[in-house]
Amino acid sequence: MLVKFIRQFKLNSTSKFYLLSIILILIPTVVLTIIAFKISYSATIAEIRMQMMEAAITLEQQFDIKYSSIEDIIIKQGVDSSSRAKQILLLNEELQPMVDNVSSKINGDIHIGFFWAEEQSIIACGPECDDYSPKRWSLDSPVFESYKTGMPAFIDRIDSSYLGHENISLYTLPIYNNNTIDGHIWVAYNTDKVSHIAHREAGKIAFIGLFIGVIFISLSYLLSIYFRTNIAAFANSVLNNDTDNNNKYMCIPELQPLVIAIETKTTELSKSYQLLFAEFQKNIQTLNELKESEQRFNTIFYNGPNLLFIVDINSKLCLDCNKNFTLKIGYTKEDIIEKSIYDLEVFKAADIDKIFSIINGNGKITNLEISYRHQNNKSHYGLLSTEFLTIDNKSCLFMVINDITERKLFREQLEKIDKLKLIDKLAGAMGHEIRNPMTTVRGFIQLLSTKNELQPYKHYFTLIISELDRANGIITEYLSLAKSTPITLTKANLNTIINNLFPLIQADAFARDMQIKLDLHEISDINLNEQELRQLILNIVQNGLEAMNTGGLLTIHTELINDKVCLKIIDQGKGIPANVLNQLGTPFVTTKDKGTGLGMSVCYAIAGRHKAKIYIRSSESNGTEITISFPTDQSTTQST
Ligand code: ADP
Ligand code: MG
Repeated sequence: MLVKFIRQFKLNSTSKFYLLSIILILIPTVVLTIIAFKISYSATIAEIRMQMMEAAITLEQQFDIKYSSIEDIIIKQGVDSSSRAKQILLLNEELQPMVDNVSSKINGDIHIGFFWAEEQSIIACGPECDDYSPKRWSLDSPVFESYKTGMPAFIDRIDSSYLGHENISLYTLPIYNNNTIDGHIWVAYNTDKVSHIAHREAGKIAFIGLFIGVIFISLSYLLSIYFRTNIAAFANSVLNNDTDNNNKYMCIPELQPLVIAIETKTTELSKSYQLLFAEFQKNIQTLNELKESEQRFNTIFYNGPNLLFIVDINSKLCLDCNKNFTLKIGYTKEDIIEKSIYDLEVFKAADIDKIFSIINGNGKITNLEISYRHQNNKSHYGLLSTEFLTIDNKSCLFMVINDITERKLFREQLEKIDKLKLIDKLAGAMGHEIRNPMTTVRGFIQLLSTKNELQPYKHYFTLIISELDRANGIITEYLSLAKSTPITLTKANLNTIINNLFPLIQADAFARDMQIKLDLHEISDINLNEQELRQLILNIVQNGLEAMNTGGLLTIHTELINDKVCLKIIDQGKGIPANVLNQLGTPFVTTKDKGTGLGMSVCYAIAGRHKAKIYIRSSESNGTEITISFPTDQSTTQST
């Protein structure tokens, strides 16, 4: 309870200790002081009573030796009974020496005397008391207790003006005259003096208690300083790991287990620290390895030859892509990241839907052929494979595109070559099936033309024969273009061939009200078949002129680019329709009413035989530019 009481004061532990000590010392001291006062008071009273009784009895004994009663004194001395004053004086003379004798032997604070009942007056008293005049004491006064009981009596705390004190203790011993009491011996003591003695005794106890308290608190204070100093030294030595300082805290041996425990824990901690540090270093190494591996992965991812990109399956947003992807589609990474795959306009929406319908069926895609678009609208082709990934708790699709545009074009070229072989066969068949009957027809016409009766029609026969020869010439030309037999190539300059052809081409253009521009630069000689190249140029020029409106300009341009002889024929026509462009070179593909659809097929065949490549750029607004790139000796040597 006391501790609870102290706790409510917000004091530090030292102040609490002192407060508790003071309370613990103060309370017993006060209690002990009270008890000491009570005991001392009772003991002193008992002692004084004994002394009072002894004094009374001593005085009685002395009285009894000489007299049997107070009246006996008067009788023996023969004093006139009518003079009270004389009688009192006589009694005083007889008894005062006895009183003086006794009072000289007892405690000076005890008053003793004789009281004569008949006169109700003190007749002798000591020490130092002269007034013996009669004092009429009321019979109700406790002083006369003994007269009622006939026994000695102690009366406490009576008011006595005689002794000039408030409280006195009185002992009365009756003096008998035969069977009646004619007076008494009284002994009085000032009880206030007893209180003073008791107070003095209690004061001593209080002083001793307080003294012990002060000593205790001082000792506690000194002890606390001692312990605090030693605990501070101990704490410092533990903190500094100062083993030499052990003696300092060994003056509190109870701390030794703590020191041992701390040392054990420190050793354990140091071991754990070493282990942790080793683990930490291992982790750092792993982290570095992870970093390196991440960097390696990043390098592989960002610089890989395939087109790589990652799409969030739910939001359809592009999360990342590699360099090749940005290069192939012509956008920067910033254009792509966080954009919807639909908004990129790289893939056809139908293709994206198809991809996600396969994915949502939990299927993986392997080598799905898709097309994708460059920013400049040029189409590319690739094989798409996918893998599921989880990045930052998002379900993602890792898409890998293996670009097959070149391969696809090559395949298409091969297909064209296959188609040309078909032309070859067709041409061969035509040669046999048309030429033979034509030869027969020509022979008979020639025979008929020699007949005399048919001479008036001779000019018809001549015309028929010349037309048949022309038709035969055309067939021969087709046969020669589509032939699978090797052609003979001779070194010649393309510019020369163009210059030779120029009048013919210009005449044609002139007839159509169009213009031809030659833009010929110095080029190397190449291995060529003049006949075939003439055909190639004529076919392409003719297509150009047919595509243009009157006033159009057709440019024939030659140039040496990267050791290759490039022939460009540029027109200002309406462009090649996209569906025709895709199948250009396929026999019989034509948009013209009287067209054969063989012209470009023948050109591809001739280019193939010269190991040349044909590139076409065409648009409705800018016309068509057809480039044929011929290998030269230098380029052939370099590539081998
Ligand atoms: P033809 O000329 O007999 O139609 P070609 O093989 O020469 O056969 O040409 C095939 C088709 O290609 C033409 O019908 C035409 O639609 C298209 N073409 C070829 N060259 C051009 C060009 N320079 N400009 C526009 N269209 C062209
Ligand atoms: Mg043509």
